[in-house]
Amino acid sequence: MSTVYLVIPCYNEEKVLPETIKELNLQLHKMIDAGLVDVSSRMLFVDDGSKDHTWQLIEQFHQQNPLVTGLKLAHNRGHQNALLAGLMTAKDEADCAISLDADLQDDVSVLPQFVQKFEEGCDVVYGVRNKRDTDTWFKRTSAEAFYRFLSRMGVDIVYNHADYRLMSRRALEALSEYKEVNLFLRGLVPLIGYRSDFVYYNRHERFAGESKYPLKKMLNFAIDGITSFSIKPLKIITNIGIGVTLVAVVGLLYALISHFAGSLLAGQTAALCSLWLLGGVQLICLGVVGTYVGKLYAEVKARPRFHIEKHLK
Ligand code: UDP
Ligand code: MG
Repeated sequence: MSTVYLVIPCYNEEKVLPETIKELNLQLHKMIDAGLVDVSSRMLFVDDGSKDHTWQLIEQFHQQNPLVTGLKLAHNRGHQNALLAGLMTAKDEADCAISLDADLQDDVSVLPQFVQKFEEGCDVVYGVRNKRDTDTWFKRTSAEAFYRFLSRMGVDIVYNHADYRLMSRRALEALSEYKEVNLFLRGLVPLIGYRSDFVYYNRHERFAGESKYPLKKMLNFAIDGITSFSIKPLKIITNIGIGVTLVAVVGLLYALISHFAGSLLAGQTAALCSLWLLGGVQLICLGVVGTYVGKLYAEVKARPRFHIEKHLK
């Protein structure tokens, strides 16, 4: 029987945590009783530098229930880093880890299916959302656009899979070899390439509290995903540059011919428009290049991705 760790990153989740712990405890006990997982299995809550009582709650529950363990990060490092911190701890203590959100959006009743697939020999099991009825129209459309755009940019990710996923110790060990600071686990895990399968589930509404991914963060996450896995944007701006230059050459020829034919070109408006347009295109291109330079800056420094302040075992 395998030791399974449920890894749950939490940032200011005091409102949902008691319910989440109740639900997960129920599921874990069921799996232990059914002989599916070992009694040494645990819930591992990773407090990502919360400003509310998340950590105090984790400590309290830990005292009452040996199945509840916790990591406290010294700072808020973001969902992906918090998740990595939990997974790297699970790598040393468990046979496999299942990552899920703290807000009960990931349907916990399919947890046994993940473990079954693992027992059948899968190293990675991706949770895939059946439908997105519970998400707002905006979240649904933006998420769809996000997946489509990523795949256009050459990034291979599993459609409709977030971070609800099982990874075997072997897969976690492989993951630990990726040292990048700009973490985008959804893109990294498929690169590992061990045997994988899917578990389908219905995504629920957030049980309580607010989403920690407002529009700005979501956009940043999307840009991060693309620029961490693809240099296509750099190629695209090169092509835009070539296109614009060709147009300019044609314009120049036209202007020269008009000049020698003695006719005057319609002047200022066209000149101003093209000036602004070209200025804009150049700034966007510079921004794209800047994004990559910024990433290199972070990667070259290779600062630690998290610091663990406390570890409840
Ligand atoms: N989270 C985190 N650190 C952060 C932001 C979020 O650990 O800086 C956790 C959060 O507590 C939750 C998960 O990441 O367990 C997903 O966040 P959320 O549910 O707010 O995102 P959404 O489901 O709205 O995309
Ligand atoms: Mg959520």
